[in-house]
Amino acid sequence: MRLILLGPPGAGKGTQAQRLVERYGIVQLSTGDMLRAAVAAGTEIGKKAKAVMDAGQLVSDDIVIGIVSDRIEEPDAKNGFVLDGFPRTIAQAEALEKLLASKSMKLDAVIEFQVDETKLVDRIVRRAEEAKAAGQPVRKDDNPEVFVKRLEEFRALTAALTPFYRERGQLTSIDGMAPIDVVSEEIRKALS
Ligand code: AMP
Repeated sequence: MRLILLGPPGAGKGTQAQRLVERYGIVQLSTGDMLRAAVAAGTEIGKKAKAVMDAGQLVSDDIVIGIVSDRIEEPDAKNGFVLDGFPRTIAQAEALEKLLASKSMKLDAVIEFQVDETKLVDRIVRRAEEAKAAGQPVRKDDNPEVFVKRLEEFRALTAALTPFYRERGQLTSIDGMAPIDVVSEEIRKALS
């Protein structure tokens, strides 16, 4: 099973990706997580990405495409994967298409989370509070100011992926505002 989860920040992609990992025995490929790990480890990529991420902007296509193509090669991705936060631009989507074709891999579905954008800031603020309460590190970009920028980037660059995948007959849209279990069930039905 090879899937893409598409939707603005705070739409619930990460939560549903984790459930898909358990359900299908696939791996979650979150470019955001991979970039945060690179920042924490102080790698060259991390150094380049840090300021851009903190400002809520998108890291360059070359960097993220490189990360994903390396990661897809790993043995644990053989069984399938759920891409969470990638692609985020048309250039990334085209690169992914070429990459998969070169490996004779097929994409099974692109699941678009439809959300009420006015409710997303509250979700992000809650996510930061919950992380803090659980003693986990709070993401530097999970605050209302940076969130506005992340949403702008989504509208300017990522929203174009909806028609891109719709034209290819690969898009399935679900209501991302429903409770977590209901969203999981909708995804399960869409994939069955
Ligand atoms: P996320 O965890 O998906 O919300 O991503 C956090 C941040 O990482 C984003 O705001 C971007 O700065 C960067 N990032 C993650 N995925 C990508 C991507 N596919 N393309 C460009 N930047 C990305």
